[in-house]
Amino acid sequence: MYDVLIVGMGPAGLTAAVYTARKKLSTLLVGKQYGGQAARAAEIENYMGYQYITGAELMARFEEQVKKYPVQVVQAEVVSLGREDGHFVARTRDGRDFRSRTVIVAAGKSPRRLNVPGEGRLLGRGVSYCAVCDTPLFGGLDVAVVGGGNSALTAAYDLLKVARHVYVVSLGEWTADPVLVDKVKDAPNLTKLAGFEVVRIEGEERVSGIALRSLSDPREEKLLGVQGVFVEIGTVPNSGFVEGFLELNEKGEIKVDCECRTSVPGVFAAGDITDIPEKQVIVAAGEGAKAALGAYRYLLMAR
Ligand SMILES: Cc1cc2nc3c(=O)[nH]c(=O)nc-3n(C[C@H](O)[C@H](O)[C@H](O)COP(=O)(O)OP(=O)(O)OC[C@H]3O[C@@H](n4cnc5c(N)ncnc54)[C@H](O)[C@@H]3O)c2cc1C
Repeated sequence: MYDVLIVGMGPAGLTAAVYTARKKLSTLLVGKQYGGQAARAAEIENYMGYQYITGAELMARFEEQVKKYPVQVVQAEVVSLGREDGHFVARTRDGRDFRSRTVIVAAGKSPRRLNVPGEGRLLGRGVSYCAVCDTPLFGGLDVAVVGGGNSALTAAYDLLKVARHVYVVSLGEWTADPVLVDKVKDAPNLTKLAGFEVVRIEGEERVSGIALRSLSDPREEKLLGVQGVFVEIGTVPNSGFVEGFLELNEKGEIKVDCECRTSVPGVFAAGDITDIPEKQVIVAAGEGAKAALGAYRYLLMAR
C-alpha cells in the first residue's frame, strides 16, 4: 500500500514524484517510459533556467532528479484504475495490481491516428508520428505530411531540408501560425494538397504510396508515390483507463479544479491529460507539483 501512486513518467508525473517523495510520502511511479512527449522535442527554448536544451536532455535531468529520492518505479502500462475497500487499485497490462491511498494521473497525450488501412501495419516502416525523431531517415525521399496545423507545418519545414519532395495533405486550409506558413509556402519542393482526405497507406514491406480522396469530388482518388507518411493531426489524451471512473470533458481530458482535484476525492490529475488549456512542459511540471501537494494535504486531512 503506497501513499501515492503516480501514473505517467512525463514532466507532470516526474515532478509530482519529487514533490511527494520530499513530503516523505511512500511513492510509486508507474509509467510506460521515462520522458513522455517532451523527450521527443528537438529543442526546448521555453523551459525556464535553460535558454536552450533538447527535450531528451531535459527529461534525462528530470529522471536524474527523481532517482535521488526513494521513489519506487515500475515500468508498465496501467489499464484500469478503480476503488476497492477504501483505497485505489491500479492494474497494469501485465496483470499486476498496485494499491494506494491517493493517485495522481499524469498519463499525458498520444498522437491522433488516421485510422486508415495500412497505417498500423506500416508504422515504423515509413509511417511516423514523430517528425522530430524520424526526419533524418528520409533524406532524398518523397514524403507526405498529413495535417495543416502547427505540428504539421513544423514537420514539413524540417522535412523540406532533407527530403526530395514534401506533400502537405490537409482536409481544409492550413491553420498553422502565419510565421510557419511563411517559412514553407514558397518552397520549391513542397506541394500543398488542401481539401483531401487520406484513404489508405500503401506498401508491402515499407510505405510506397498514399491514396487520397478529394473532398470536392469524392470520385477523384489520387495516389502519391511516397516513401514516408508523417501523421501530424493532433493528439488525444491517454485517459481510456479512467473512463467511467473519473469525469472527462468532451475531448476525453480529465476535468480538474484549480488544485488538480478530479471528480473522485483522493484522485488528482496533472499535465496534458487534464482540461487545463495550455499543453507545455513548464505547465505540466507546475501542475504535477500542485497535484502532489494536493495529495499531501488530502492525506493529512484523512489521518
Ligand atoms: C514534438 C513535440 C515538441 C514539443 N515541444 C515543446 C516545447 O518546445 N516546449 C514545451 O513547453 N512543450 C513542448 N511540447 C509539449 C510537451 O512535451 C507536453 O506539454 C508535456 O510533455 C506534457 O507532459 P505530461 O507529463 O503531462 O505528459 P506526457 O509528456 O505525455 O507524459 C505522459 C507519460 O505517461 C505515459 N503513459 C500514458 N498512458 C499510460 C498508462 N496507461 N500507463 C502508464 N503510463 C502511461 C506516457 O508513456 C508518457 O511517458 C512538445 C511536444 C511534442 C510532441
